[in-house]
Amino acid sequence: MYDANHLIRQLRESSLGREDSVFARLPDDSTVTFGALFAGAERMAAALAAQGVQPGDRVAVQVQKTLQAIELYLGTVMAGGIFLPLNTAYTGPEVAYFIGDASPGVVVCDPARQDQIRAVAGTAKVLTLDAAGHGSLRDLADCQSGFAPVARAADDLAAILYTSGTTGRSKGAMLSHENLASNSLMLREYWRFTAEDVLIHALPIFHTHGLFVATNVALFAGAQVVFLPGFDADAILQAMPSATALMGVPTFYTRLLADERLTRERTANMRLFISGSAPLLVETHTQWEARTGHRILERYGMTETNMSTSNPYEGERRAGTVGFPLPGVEARVMQGGAEVAPGETGVLEVRGANVFQGYWQMPEKTAEELRPDGWFITGDLARIDADGYVTIVGREKDLIITGGFNVYPKEVESLIDDLPGVLESAVIGVPHPDFGEAVVAVVVPTGKDTSAETVKAALAGQLARFKQPKQVILLDTLPRNTMGKVQKKALREEFAELFS
Ligand code: AMP
Repeated sequence: MYDANHLIRQLRESSLGREDSVFARLPDDSTVTFGALFAGAERMAAALAAQGVQPGDRVAVQVQKTLQAIELYLGTVMAGGIFLPLNTAYTGPEVAYFIGDASPGVVVCDPARQDQIRAVAGTAKVLTLDAAGHGSLRDLADCQSGFAPVARAADDLAAILYTSGTTGRSKGAMLSHENLASNSLMLREYWRFTAEDVLIHALPIFHTHGLFVATNVALFAGAQVVFLPGFDADAILQAMPSATALMGVPTFYTRLLADERLTRERTANMRLFISGSAPLLVETHTQWEARTGHRILERYGMTETNMSTSNPYEGERRAGTVGFPLPGVEARVMQGGAEVAPGETGVLEVRGANVFQGYWQMPEKTAEELRPDGWFITGDLARIDADGYVTIVGREKDLIITGGFNVYPKEVESLIDDLPGVLESAVIGVPHPDFGEAVVAVVVPTGKDTSAETVKAALAGQLARFKQPKQVILLDTLPRNTMGKVQKKALREEFAELFS
């Protein structure tokens, strides 16, 4: 009966006939079978349909990570709706913008937020789901029984995910059933996921990484997940001996490395550690291998494109790179309207079934970033070496132009990160009266011996003068968002007046 719905049919396929097999292990040791998951999703779909959700309607969701939230995602797609997850960190005014922009038919939120959301919801119905998976939506769903998924074709939208909006207004990336299905199916093969796998799922589910990469790949493989509400070193380390895979952002790996319980023995049953959503330091990769014997597999993607490149499953997982374009994905590096020579830096463009359908109600933005022939301009600076490995150099907008010269922050950061007494760094451009922009390094030291002067002195012989930081600032930590991305915009704002 799932045949008519392009994504749901494929998500269900690998667990058909395995209704009693466990899909999720929850922190309280209870389990949820594939049968129960899809039955729960059908009830959610029926509840949404009863609330008037029609094919193509948006269902905006700002809730804690629970299995019921996964059922709500599946249920929305079953009902023919468009799932619109929102970061739990968004404030009232931010949520108001998304509701205004997407005009959803239903908004699901935490009960503590419902009055605030009702005030901005307009004609949308407001339902609740709390951190225990209870609330008015659940009550409605519990009164329902089966639901036949609404027919949806490959090109119909399944989700809209708003990009973090580091510049300007957040844009809603429209993802079709086939965008999601094709990418997860390919990743399942590329990373060798099967029904034998047990994936530690500790990522948030309002973002492409936890929602589509982790959840969809596990469902496509009929694999089991250890379903954790968030990053929890104790729970992850405890799960490892009976798990096979972990998907994380780089901070997962640095935090686990800081725990002495991370050992070769504890990770002996694991077959795959995957990292993405932000750059993994070469040092983290090296330390992880020394401690566990595993080489972390780094991949690269974004909300608009799902996953585009990955280091190989077999073959060299090259630290500091994001591997090769994935099967079915083309990649090229462009500068001044032409493709650059191998090894040269430019803006990365990708094309394939993974690339989104455009930005919700923003045809001009779509036209700026998505070429008519299907190439998507990622805005990431990258190079592709002669042997095909892709290296991400940073966001184009983070490029520093000082006295007319281009400085790639990553080049400077890599040198600083290699210095003794340095944990990590972020190099930014800030306004400067003479140079336009000046290079500033924000450095997290590991010991008392590191000072602005020692960092400057160490770089002096290694970098052309225009690339050397005009100022080095020491901080205890770098500002990061929930996906572990360093917030360079926040740093630029904080230090905007440095040279004024
Ligand atoms: P998001 O849309 O939130 O997933 O953010 C996508 C952006 O994260 C990309 O455009 C890159 O700038 C960055 N990113 C994702 N994966 C990696 C990676 N493995 N290395 C470096 N940057 C990454």
